[in-house]
Amino acid sequence: MSLGDYPFQDPHPIIDAHVHCGVQVHYPPQSLADYRSLLTGARIAGAALFAPVIEIYDRNDPEFQDTPAWQNRRRAANQHLLTLEDPEFAVYPYFFIWNDFAADQLGPDHKGIKWHRHDDEPVYHYDDPRCAAAVAEIRRRNLPVVLEEEYENTVRFIEEIAEGVRVIIPHLGLLNGGFHRIRQRGLWELPTVYGDTALASLQDIQTYIDEFGPDRLLFGSDFPFGDPRRELGKIYNLDISEEARARILGGNFLRLTGEVQSD
Ligand SMILES: [Zn+2]
Repeated sequence: MSLGDYPFQDPHPIIDAHVHCGVQVHYPPQSLADYRSLLTGARIAGAALFAPVIEIYDRNDPEFQDTPAWQNRRRAANQHLLTLEDPEFAVYPYFFIWNDFAADQLGPDHKGIKWHRHDDEPVYHYDDPRCAAAVAEIRRRNLPVVLEEEYENTVRFIEEIAEGVRVIIPHLGLLNGGFHRIRQRGLWELPTVYGDTALASLQDIQTYIDEFGPDRLLFGSDFPFGDPRRELGKIYNLDISEEARARILGGNFLRLTGEVQSD
């Protein structure tokens, strides 16, 4: 299922806001079944799923140019996530967008956007008019964007290109220039900017909560690179109220998701 509202009875559901899931690449194993096999004893009841980077573009070639074959691979990777309905686990598919800015592939079941690049990887064509058109559609649907980009592009995206769009900075900024650089720029304070806890240090997570509160922070694991139970353990180790913990573990994610327009 991929309902905007959490479909189960649990008053404090745990949702993992950062899970890579694909079946075209098997190293490391990263199907939904692989993920769920790690959850024994962890009360994780749903997850935001993104296709693996390596099913979207050739991250090892900075000069990489898009091809029809890669467009097909990308479409299949995104499409796969829409097939994962499960009566016992809530699936929230995120659409991984790349340089064809294929916003026409967005459907009613998409709950967010994955936008990802490291500084040694092929660049997004931010000046392409299709980029602005895709951002306009993302804004219209109120889809949150998980934005992993180098620092300058993170700032440009949030302050100029996608003003008003809700952006989730993964890893509390670890790969977007660092937690403190994002903090110095004043981005964490913006009401549209969220963070996820995947692979972030306990100290940065605690500092974030002390300064900016618990309402825009999302628990995430970064499976298969992070271990969901270990990442969950970090949230239980934070010195915060149980109410704040419940928001971070799932309440904030469900609020964000509930505000998405399905068409
Ligand atoms: Zn990730």
